[in-house]
Amino acid sequence: MTQVSTTPTSEPRHQGLVCRRCGCRHFLTVYTRPRHDGIVRRKRCRHCGQAITTREKII
Ligand SMILES: [Zn+2]
Repeated sequence: MTQVSTTPTSEPRHQGLVCRRCGCRHFLTVYTRPRHDGIVRRKRCRHCGQAITTREKII
């Protein structure tokens, strides 16, 4: 019997996202853009307006 462990790929990984400037974790997603190798999300800090870009890879 073979046991296969499935890893959920649709699970959001925003837990570790912290603003470098003010340290808050509240972000507004400006836009989401699908790419050939994943998804690029543009986010903006709710408090100080610091813009960050996150990349999510689709396997
Ligand atoms: Zn901030």
